[in-house]
Amino acid sequence: MATGKRRSQTHRKFEVDLIDGRWFWAMETTFNDGWIIMTMVDMTALKKTEADLRLARDAALHLAETDTLTGLRSRRAIMGYLDHCLKSATPSSPVSIAIIDVDHFKQINDEHGHDVGDIVLQAFGANCQRMFRDSDRIGRVGGEEFLLVMPNTNEASARKALERFRSFMKSMRYEGLGDRLVTFSAGLVEHRSGETAQEAYKNADSALYQAKTTGRDRISALGSRPESPAHTTAYGSRRAGTAG
Ligand code: GH3
Ligand code: MG
Ligand code: MG
Repeated sequence: MATGKRRSQTHRKFEVDLIDGRWFWAMETTFNDGWIIMTMVDMTALKKTEADLRLARDAALHLAETDTLTGLRSRRAIMGYLDHCLKSATPSSPVSIAIIDVDHFKQINDEHGHDVGDIVLQAFGANCQRMFRDSDRIGRVGGEEFLLVMPNTNEASARKALERFRSFMKSMRYEGLGDRLVTFSAGLVEHRSGETAQEAYKNADSALYQAKTTGRDRISALGSRPESPAHTTAYGSRRAGTAG
């Protein structure tokens, strides 16, 4: 009887790889009289395509998350990290952020060449990777502009770390620049509860504007400010000004 026959058969399908690197798709049918029929299909080429696609996907992801010149995180990656950190921020475990901008960078390019400008950016990237804690992450958000995200750090501690970095970077000398000093300015804010990532970024940008307009080569913080994000527009926007 046909239905009885079907019940007496057991089917299995599985992938198997051989010692020589080939992959097979195996289909096995066991009959109740002990006979086994096994069909093997060579799927080595398919497996290789799958592995190549996975590698290509990983490479594309890495490219999207990394700035090729400095090796730092891309804008997309660092903004993602900021969003991630803000989700677990509490008043006892605040997140501080700083926008760091190289001073008079256009002048460096104009007077010494774009290649020398690139060397400055690369040195900046290499040094900030090793001068901050592992949980502090930095990304390149514009030409000579970087965003530093410091979880579990209040404004005072963030300022200390930034001041240390600032004086270290100021002591650097670059091939092609002779004795010329390269400085940077930074706008620092401690995230306030209720603020979005964009609002915190905008406040850091306003603090950077202050640093630029009060002489550069310094770190400015907005300090005490109203809790409500609605009041943050009271501070000037760097984009509307002439600096940076
Ligand atoms: P400020 O002190 O106010 O920030 O002045 P600045 O000259 O640093 O700022 P500005 O915005 O006037 O100029 C930034 C320059 O950065 C202009 C642009 O050509 C240069 N730049 C942007 N991306 C790169 C890059 O990848 N490599 C180099 N070498 N220069 C870049
Ligand atoms: Mg600049
Ligand atoms: Mg700039």
